[in-house]
Amino acid sequence: MNYEPVIGLEVHAQLLTKSKLFCSCSTQFGSEPNKNTCPVCLALPGVLPVLNRQAVEFAIRMGLATSCRITGKNVFARKNYFYPDLPKGYQISQYERPICEKGFVDIPLDGERKKIGLTRIHMEEDAGKLLHEHPQTRSKAASWVDLNRAGVPLIEIVSEPDIRSPAEAVAYLKELRRLVMYLEICDGNMEEGSLRCDANISVRPVGEKKFGTKVEIKNMNSFRHIEKALHYEIKRQTEVLAGKRSQDRIIQETRLWDPEKELTQPMRSKEEAHDYRYFPDPDLLPVEVHEAWLSQVRGALPELPEGKRDRFTRQYQLPSSQIDILTDSRRLADFFEACVKVYPQPKPLANWTINELLRMIQGDPDRIQGSRLSPEAIGKTLTLVDQGKISGGMAKTVLQKVFETGEPPESIVQKEGLSQVSDEGSLAAVVDEILNENPKEVDRYRRGEEKLLSFFLGQIMKKTGGRANPPLAKSVFEKKIKS
Ligand code: ADP
Ligand code: ZN
Ligand code: MG
Repeated sequence: MNYEPVIGLEVHAQLLTKSKLFCSCSTQFGSEPNKNTCPVCLALPGVLPVLNRQAVEFAIRMGLATSCRITGKNVFARKNYFYPDLPKGYQISQYERPICEKGFVDIPLDGERKKIGLTRIHMEEDAGKLLHEHPQTRSKAASWVDLNRAGVPLIEIVSEPDIRSPAEAVAYLKELRRLVMYLEICDGNMEEGSLRCDANISVRPVGEKKFGTKVEIKNMNSFRHIEKALHYEIKRQTEVLAGKRSQDRIIQETRLWDPEKELTQPMRSKEEAHDYRYFPDPDLLPVEVHEAWLSQVRGALPELPEGKRDRFTRQYQLPSSQIDILTDSRRLADFFEACVKVYPQPKPLANWTINELLRMIQGDPDRIQGSRLSPEAIGKTLTLVDQGKISGGMAKTVLQKVFETGEPPESIVQKEGLSQVSDEGSLAAVVDEILNENPKEVDRYRRGEEKLLSFFLGQIMKKTGGRANPPLAKSVFEKKIKS
């Protein structure tokens, strides 16, 4: 029998607000432990939460970008559980009336597109962090509590069980990450945990309509881990269903991915909604989102990844693999378009951006801003290549120097002696010398050994210190040897 996986993802994205969701503490990552805390996020008696408007606006942005219905009157709820990183004993989240419902994300998949439904997007506060120290570093084992993250605003994006393979799950996550970064509501930094994912997965016989029992793999923050964990879990569940793992079973539970052992392990049995005793938070009023606010946020939305990909395809006629790279980040796409404005040749520009620029900035488009490369310098350099004044290889050197020093391309060309020998007279003199010095080779070439062409071109390059304009060198040589 054949089995197929059914996958639904719950993704947490940390919102890029300066302050926390219900107090004015900083959200700065990597601050000294417990520095970014106050009576509100420490849950001291007598305090009241005050909602951060920016966080609500960010959630609306995401909802609109994913075609969700925005709930006019959405409600914060208390999700009760006891854990040392949660000082209040409850997390403020949304339950019955989340801010966004019923949207979708269109993901690129093998040149096609697939819609993944969104059940809901809700706002909630993050918990703190626990750090467990092992006995070998101290006389006794110790656990530390850092509440800097307690109260930091998150959105949780819950997908429908529409995903059918680990590759699809990764494509969906990458599109979500691109979206939140385009919208400038989350920095997308998975290593720092700004974007993390719980994956729900079940397996069923192909053709079966009903879903199987799902397990939830908690808290993964790398595409590679997510893909591997899903593959592992598909194999495990399929083997259980096929009766090949008599000692194992599939139950509703929460599992953890162990990246060292490369397997998932049970963490706890799955809690049900009623375990949390959700109820509307009496300290917070319902959030009213008026039409005026909605249309203002809608009007300020940037061009989104999907729209940008389509427009780039029409406007620049580049292969889709290049379009994907150029539009992966808004910064890179903007820089590319600024370059096209001063040097309207998308094809060489795209090649240069993808092969050279991305290497210089180590793949991080945020580095363009701090660098000394300007669209003007790039346009100027590529124009020098078109005019035959420098070679393509020299252009790489020139732009590397511009990147390092910010000097104008022309003065780098001069200083480094990078000009190309492009006048026929000087090349003719060089070719004459070479023909005189190599009578045997000249003879063989004339008798039809055409492969010697590369030998002669090599000699020309050697004599000019690599500065001969290659097409011109070839034509001068061919003229001379025939005469
Ligand atoms: P729970 O009440 O256990 O939290 P939900 O219905 O809220 O479950 O769904 C949580 C996530 O699990 C969603 O992303 C949903 O798409 C996904 N999901 C639900 N049922 C299944 C299933 N049988 N197999 C795989 N994923 C599922
Ligand atoms: Zn605080
Ligand atoms: Mg649920």
